Amino acid sequence: MNLILFGPPGAGKGTQAQFLVESYKIPQISTGDMLRVAVRQQTPLGLKAQEIMQQGGLVSDEIVLGIVEERLAQDDCRSGFVLDGFPRTIPQADALAEILQRCGRSIEHVVSLEVDNEEIVKRLSGRRSCPDCGKGYHVTYDAPKRVDVCDVCGVALVQRDDDREQTVRNRLAVYEQQTAPLKEYYRSQQLLRTIPGMGPIAEVQQRITAALAG
Ligand code: AMP
Repeated sequence: MNLILFGPPGAGKGTQAQFLVESYKIPQISTGDMLRVAVRQQTPLGLKAQEIMQQGGLVSDEIVLGIVEERLAQDDCRSGFVLDGFPRTIPQADALAEILQRCGRSIEHVVSLEVDNEEIVKRLSGRRSCPDCGKGYHVTYDAPKRVDVCDVCGVALVQRDDDREQTVRNRLAVYEQQTAPLKEYYRSQQLLRTIPGMGPIAEVQQRITAALAG
């Protein structure tokens, strides 16, 4: 199963990707996660991407395509994959089609999670995580027992730089301008499955399963 999980930042792509990984036994390929690792390790690529990510802009197609092509060539992607946060521009989508075509593969479904902007701002600006164990929280929806302290490790929780409200709004504007046009791109190829992304996680999961079966 070769899938793209599509939608604005904060639509729940990472959460739903986890479920798809377990259901279909395919790896999740998150360009955001891979870039964050590169930034943390301060690799040459990470150093290039760091500033633009902090501002909520898009890293160059060249950098992102390099990491995706390398990842797709790994053995665990042979039986499929779920792309999360990629492609984000038309040139990335064209390049992806080419990379897959070279090895006789193609995208089978594009699942688009639809969530309105004010809900996204609420979801992302309230997100916190533990710098030690990585456990995620939300100040309203999934609060720790003590304000801003990890239940497991007892250390102070942190907020991703790009989850600050102003940056979230910038990420949404970038999404509208550069990424949303991909919906039309995939709709015209009859690959787009549009799913309401509001409501409980389990319900969204059910909607995705039904869409992929249909
Ligand atoms: P995400 O976790 O998917 O929201 O990605 C976090 C940040 O990484 C984005 O705001 C971009 O700066 C960068 N990024 C992730 N994926 C891409 C992509 N496909 N193209 C360009 N930039 C990306």
